Amino acid sequence: MPSFVRVLIDRSEGRELDYALPEELRGRVSVGERVIVKVRNRRALGTVLELMEHSDIPGIRPIEGLVGNESTLPPVMMRLARWMADYYCAPLASVMRSMLPPMLRGEKIAGKKIRMAELFGMPPAEECERLARKAPKQHAILERLRAATSAIPVHELLRESGGSDASLRALVAAGWIRLSEVRSTASPGDGEQVLPGRIPKLNPDQESVVTVLLDAIGGSDDAATQRPFLLHGVTGSGKTEVYLRTLGAVLDSGKSAIVLVPEISLTPQTVERFRSRFDHAGGGGAGVAVLHSHLTDAERREEWMRLQRGEARIAIGARSAVFAPLANLGLIIVDEEHENTYKQEETPRYHARDVAVMRGRLEGCPVLLGSATPSIESYRNALTGKYRLLALPKRADGQLMPLIRVVDLRLQGKRAKSDGGLSAPLQMAITKRLELGQQTILFLNRRGFATSMLCEQCGHVCRCPNCSLSMTFHRDGNRLACHLCGHASVPPERCPECRDPGIRHSGLGTQRVEEGIRRAFPSARIARMDADTMTKRGSYADVLGKFRARQIDILIGTQMIAKGLDFPNVTLVGIINADIGLHSPDFRAGERTFQLLTQVAGRAGRGETEGEVIVQTFSPASPSLQHARHHDFTGFYEQEISFREAFRHPPFARMLLVRVRGVSPERTSHAAAAVAKKLKGLAPDSVEVSDSAPAPLERSHGQYRFHVILKSASGAVLGKLARELLSSLTLPEDVVMTLDVDPYSLM
Ligand code: ADP
Ligand code: ZN
Repeated sequence: MPSFVRVLIDRSEGRELDYALPEELRGRVSVGERVIVKVRNRRALGTVLELMEHSDIPGIRPIEGLVGNESTLPPVMMRLARWMADYYCAPLASVMRSMLPPMLRGEKIAGKKIRMAELFGMPPAEECERLARKAPKQHAILERLRAATSAIPVHELLRESGGSDASLRALVAAGWIRLSEVRSTASPGDGEQVLPGRIPKLNPDQESVVTVLLDAIGGSDDAATQRPFLLHGVTGSGKTEVYLRTLGAVLDSGKSAIVLVPEISLTPQTVERFRSRFDHAGGGGAGVAVLHSHLTDAERREEWMRLQRGEARIAIGARSAVFAPLANLGLIIVDEEHENTYKQEETPRYHARDVAVMRGRLEGCPVLLGSATPSIESYRNALTGKYRLLALPKRADGQLMPLIRVVDLRLQGKRAKSDGGLSAPLQMAITKRLELGQQTILFLNRRGFATSMLCEQCGHVCRCPNCSLSMTFHRDGNRLACHLCGHASVPPERCPECRDPGIRHSGLGTQRVEEGIRRAFPSARIARMDADTMTKRGSYADVLGKFRARQIDILIGTQMIAKGLDFPNVTLVGIINADIGLHSPDFRAGERTFQLLTQVAGRAGRGETEGEVIVQTFSPASPSLQHARHHDFTGFYEQEISFREAFRHPPFARMLLVRVRGVSPERTSHAAAAVAKKLKGLAPDSVEVSDSAPAPLERSHGQYRFHVILKSASGAVLGKLARELLSSLTLPEDVVMTLDVDPYSLM
């Protein structure tokens, strides 16, 4: 029986140390187990990577205790973690940490209200016996916590165990118990009454898609677990109903499932659609657990525990729900698989869709990716046979796709460009909706009153001193703010360059649009939805509730309202400026614009009446816009894929972005140049290495940023190169280098 373990120490940059297993723990510890160990003289947390029969290390120390079952990663997840660490060139410890919700990571949580206590680990048996004799109150507290499955409020703990504050403090000091503070421990769904949903009869397209999926789930199709499905269904084609049917079959077979949706679509409405089908007495008691970032840490942990205990068998959540602790997984769904928010923009920089595909392979369960606008990468995978393509080409309710009209802003008068951004056709269309009692959504992907302060005399634009981004004027509080780092300042009265008093805000923000609309339609009921107005918990649901109840005529908003919302009475969607994003320095700019327009257009005409979309633009001929206008995904794909091929952009090459940042412009640029030089020396001919260059966003948070970009046909070659770079390069202490495999944000 193995008597030694190799432990990866948390927060140690990948340090692995060996420990002995005390007699009483032998046979009870597995790979992935979270343990408490001593590093020098400090207690630390770590994860068992390996069980060993022998160790050559003299005087090896025993491990101190176990954290408890809750945070143990099962073998499949350990294999997934190793794959991620390898593929994304990230430290294994950081990958494993990101697989657990914050409260289970063993980190301190601060700034909340109720004091919670939880077991950090049980002391060894002798120590327990000693406490039972010498300090019965401490012993009683430990026993009470051992019986608990998660953290419990301190006042409850003391009352139920008969312990005192002093005995609790002694246990905390000894390191066996951890205290934390939380806001509340209510489960997010508590107190909501869920009614069973109406189940529609599938249309023939849905029927054939579901048949294929059920074969895969029933196991009569072995290839299914090897080849993920890509469901391309136009907006409103009934993809969600396909998910629900397929999930039903998974649950009936006794298995569990994960549903990933982008954070932004994780609305009460979305969750409700799943809850109403599965989360009530008639739903087989399957239970739905929701994991998203608006939950408090305690809530998130509680949902996690429900999944782990098998009380809920469906996990719905954003990116990190791909790690949901479900045994016996029968299906992973990734809705809106093209969404950029699946990419985590901090270490480990994984893409949840790709991790889902890998988890599915390791678990031997089918993976279903769905989108109205599949990513170029996934669609190509489907065309080459790596994925299996399923299609829902029509709207489920037989509705026509909305009519999209393009308004050329260059031909509109000056008023449309400055005052609320409303062209005459859009203004007329809104008037008509107001008369008919129908609702309008106005979309502008930019918050604030105006985008920038521009001097009409000399062209000077106010920029953030930290980020070099143009600052946004906010009328609330009369301030200029940087949307990247949050830097704020007072708007100047005169141009700082030429002293001309004509400096003014230009461009349009949601706030300015709102003002223009209020002036144009004084009697309409108007609401605005963006990160500025949606700061309070619940305000999002509140506004949507009112909009649904038709107490709001016109809803103005940013991408917050672009996706996942389904309002039958909305018959008009106006896109104030379709050009935003089209000119950003990013090879995916065209794809993003196409996706955004298609998604936004999909908001219109979901009910009985046909929808209309009005797109305002300064560049009406752009292919993204033209294909979106004709609902022509394949046309867009063909044009885009030839562009990608011509320039060897992904998916024709794998990309690795090396970011170098630091406070000193000289040392940082020098280090970046050294990185590029080193890479050019190491790289085989098949790899393209760019020169080091300032990032499009040259300064951010007071740091200078440089990029080196690598491209290769082979991801493995890039990974190997990255590891060679990491092991052979030393950078100045104040310069930080990060690696981003398959980067999405190139700013
Ligand atoms: P998607 O997820 O593809 O955008 P949804 O699943 O939201 O589409 O479906 C769009 C609308 O069509 C919803 O209101 C849904 O209830 C309805 N719907 C879906 N399937 C059917 C069906 N078979 N018969 C009638 N209505 C349906
Ligand atoms: Zn800034």
